[in-house]
Amino acid sequence: MTYKTLFSVCFLSFLINSAISQTTITKWKDDKKGAISLTYDDGNRNQFKYALPIMERLQLPATFYIITGPIKGSRYQGKFVGRPVEDIIKESASNPTNADNYFERASAAKYLGYIGADALYDKSAIAFEDGKIDEAHKLMDTLYQKVRNGALKKGIEFSDEVAQEQGLAWDSIKAYAAKGYEFASHTVTHTHLAVLDTTNMSYELYKSKEDIKEHLGDKYIFDAEIPFGVEHPRALKYAFPAYAALRNMMTDSFLFEINRGYKTQPGSSNKEYVQWQRGPLSKTSLQEMKSYVDTTLAHNNIWLVLVFHGIDGLGWEALPHELLETYFRYIKQNENNLWVATFADVAKYMRERMHADVSENKTGSTITVHLKQTLDSRVYDVPLTLKTYVPGSWKVVKSNQQPNLKIQKDAKESYVLYDVMPGETITLSHQ
Ligand SMILES: [Zn+2]
Repeated sequence: MTYKTLFSVCFLSFLINSAISQTTITKWKDDKKGAISLTYDDGNRNQFKYALPIMERLQLPATFYIITGPIKGSRYQGKFVGRPVEDIIKESASNPTNADNYFERASAAKYLGYIGADALYDKSAIAFEDGKIDEAHKLMDTLYQKVRNGALKKGIEFSDEVAQEQGLAWDSIKAYAAKGYEFASHTVTHTHLAVLDTTNMSYELYKSKEDIKEHLGDKYIFDAEIPFGVEHPRALKYAFPAYAALRNMMTDSFLFEINRGYKTQPGSSNKEYVQWQRGPLSKTSLQEMKSYVDTTLAHNNIWLVLVFHGIDGLGWEALPHELLETYFRYIKQNENNLWVATFADVAKYMRERMHADVSENKTGSTITVHLKQTLDSRVYDVPLTLKTYVPGSWKVVKSNQQPNLKIQKDAKESYVLYDVMPGETITLSHQ
């Protein structure tokens, strides 16, 4: 053997040795190619009547963003927190709406006791969110003027979303949650948060959170969705501190987010993760819906977040349940390569992985792996999947937690996949 060959052999074995017994945290659970979260907004009755049984049959988890005020058994219902509305109505006669009184008037608008105020309030809020402040003020003036002039009929009206949820009770929500479905806040009354004063905005955010915590527990107050998919900075400023994650927007530096209203293609980002939200509407074809899944499968960093509203004629942009069933079957068929999980579980997995560190120690017959993580383990409680390369001579691999790990092979070497909770130490051995 010449020196040159000896060097090559040594170098080659160095490469092999450095290639084996390496541990990484897989990008997605079970080393899948992407993740999908099925999410539903508004707690619409038909979501539970028609969509949930399909998901149960197919064993697919999902997240429901529920409006807590109308749920039977809730402690907090919608209300205006402030001075008597009569005073506000009276004041509006001599003092036009301006930047100083707009948020108070908007907060009180739905609680004046008149039918038709809701529609004007919505228009004003949308104008405000679009940056048309003068128009928003004028619409608020019109609303109060109609109230003062007796142009509106007295009465209580519910928003469409609240009406669609009527009948939902905490008992049934608890039973669904016990089966693995996630429930999370969609505020107390499904209102436009950006136009509320800070007291009423806090009421919508925190009283909803309190009811969920009381009826379901801490696990369900991790994330929330602020109504209308709002990305308005004023709403987000108050909502960000209230929840660890918002479906509206996540600001993690490792994540590129494409929300429902945007056409950007997810493959255009080279960030570690891409959250790609798609909200199928009544005119969206099955083919297009399937293409979201195909695109997710064609990359390795996409978290597809599907947003559903109405089902079978009830609710916004209602989809027939037969279409959902076909679509969900397609997702199920691809489950080998896709991690289908709740919004909270996927958000937690990504954050845990990005804040974790794996250390490894190899002796002759064992590999010891420790997973360290800097996040609060009481909240971040989703196990991470580790991938450890093992020597090719190992024909059986067991850990201190599992008697038999499946040995798999990739282009590099033999490896095993196993789940670990942050803070845990795992010992792999072949004897
Ligand atoms: Zn909604």
